[in-house]
Amino acid sequence: MKSYRKELWFHTNQRREFINITPEVEKCLEESGITEGLCLVNAMHITASVFINDDESGLHQDFEVWLEKLAPEKPYSQYRHNGFEDNADAHLKRTLMGREVVVAVTKGKLDLGPWEQIFYGEFDGKRRKRVLVKIIGE
Ligand code: ZN
Repeated sequence: MKSYRKELWFHTNQRREFINITPEVEKCLEESGITEGLCLVNAMHITASVFINDDESGLHQDFEVWLEKLAPEKPYSQYRHNGFEDNADAHLKRTLMGREVVVAVTKGKLDLGPWEQIFYGEFDGKRRKRVLVKIIGE
């Protein structure tokens, strides 16, 4: 069995951002030389997500509105976690959007559905953060 590991770094300009990382994950798969197996992609930070969904800007705005309804950023004082930090909402948003995805690798390609794209979801940005890509197989 072959095994491949890589960290992808991100530094967003805004507090919250969605970035389509499918091309970068495809590059990892190519580098790995693995043609049959599994590809795990996970955020290495507890205020960021990796998720799969449609690359459609309206939907991304809907996610933003939905997440702000469930875990509004402000007022900061509403959260017990906020003392030295102001990112309680980001922890909650990360929990809602998930930590990781696993994609099947078939014939050297990510075996995604027709509209599936892999996203990095940043909820407390403006600093360097990482995503782990781990691919195992033959
Ligand atoms: Zn925190």
